[in-house]
Order: sequence, then structure tokens, then C-alpha cells
Amino acid sequence: GDGDPRLAAAVRAVADALIADEARLTDLDQKVGDGDLGLNLARGAEAILREVDTYQGKSAASVMKALSASLRKTVGGTSGALYAAGLLRAASELEGKQTPGFADWAKALAAGSAAIAQLGDAKIGDRTMLDALLPAADMLSAAANDAATGRAFGDAIEAARQGAAATAAIASRRGRSSYLGERAVGVPDPGAEAVVVWLLAIRRSLD
Ligand code: ADP
Ligand code: MG
Ligand code: MG
Repeated sequence: GDGDPRLAAAVRAVADALIADEARLTDLDQKVGDGDLGLNLARGAEAILREVDTYQGKSAASVMKALSASLRKTVGGTSGALYAAGLLRAASELEGKQTPGFADWAKALAAGSAAIAQLGDAKIGDRTMLDALLPAADMLSAAANDAATGRAFGDAIEAARQGAAATAAIASRRGRSSYLGERAVGVPDPGAEAVVVWLLAIRRSLD
């Protein structure tokens, strides 16, 4: 087939990492949300691991579409709907590209993040996954023409980490943790932390 074997490896790494961090993400969501984020994402990850072998030889766009469908079916809660929408938008960005390069992936991440912002009606500073996702996507897009893409990925992860850490200082206006308002202050947004987890997994899988 014409699929990139690194894509299936990255998908597997992301799923493994989300399963490994289930307890930590659940614990965070227990503090500031309804306590199901770890379980939601782990359930999606298990579903993906069951079908990842079928991704072999598929185009990047088809893989993103399959991920979207799978998460939409298995991940309850807000993050399931948002990730499904983001992955679908990323898929349409990758349509027709047999072996997407760094710049194509940067565009796909930016488009997917924008779709999440649109569906969730949220922006930077609203204490959501976007606080990690958007800075990382911006960093990758800025570096897309750079030859030093390995370092650019590291910079994107650092931007996501900083964005996620900064959410601990803001009261929530979006999602279930908005019920908590000021009480969420001091605890980072679980969804933003989850973004750091899967970005790190992708980078490790590419090493
Ligand atoms: P639920 O709140 O339905 O239980 P999850 O626990 O699956 O959803 O996901 C919670 C995460 O989803 C939050 O930590 C936050 O990062 C993200 N989130 C919630 N609402 C929004 C929104 N409107 N826009 C973007 N991200 C959001
Ligand atoms: Mg939740
Ligand atoms: Mg929930």
C-alpha cells in the first residue's frame, strides 16, 4: 500500500500514552470537571488499538477519517465530539496527499484545531484543550518551511506544555469545569494536559 508506516506507529503510541495516563487525567477531571476524561480518552484509545492494523496502507486522510469515526462512536463527553470534528477537518486538509510532509501535517493540525475552536465556541484563555492545541499548531505552522522540523516539534510541545500549565491560573468559562469557576484555579485543564500527552507520544514515536 501507499500508507506511511510511521502514521500507524504514531497512532499506536498516542493510544498507548492515553491509556497509560488514564488515572492522572481522570484525577484532574475529578478535581475540576465530572471525572470522566481519563476514561473517555482511554476508551477511545482501546477502540483505536483494536483497528490500527487496518490502517496499514491507507492514506493519511483515510486514517484521520477512521480515527474521527472511531472516537465519535466510543468517546463520550465533550472531548469525543470535539476530537471527532477536529480529526475530520484534518482529514479534509490531507485529502489527495499520499505522503504528507511536515508542512501538510502542520496545516492539518491548524485546521483541526480551528474546527475544535469553532465547534466548541472557545478561544485561547478559555481554559480548554485549545490553550495547549492552538499554540502548538501555531508553532508548527511557523516552522513548516524550516528544515529543522525535529526541533520545531519540540518547540510545539513546549508551547503546548506552557499553555496547559497556564490554564491552572484561569477560572473556567467553557465546559463542565465552568461550574466550578474560581475553584478550578490552581489545577490545570485536563483536556489541555491530554494534548501534551498525545503530542509527546507522537514525538517519541518519530524518534
Ligand atoms: P465533559 O466535560 O463532557 O465530561 P470531557 O471530560 O471528555 O468532557 O472533556 C473535558 C475537556 O474538554 C476539558 O478539560 C476541556 O479541555 C475540553 N473542553 C470542554 N469544553 C470545551 C469547549 N467548549 N471548547 C474546547 N474544548 C473544550
Ligand atoms: Mg469530563
Ligand atoms: Mg462527561
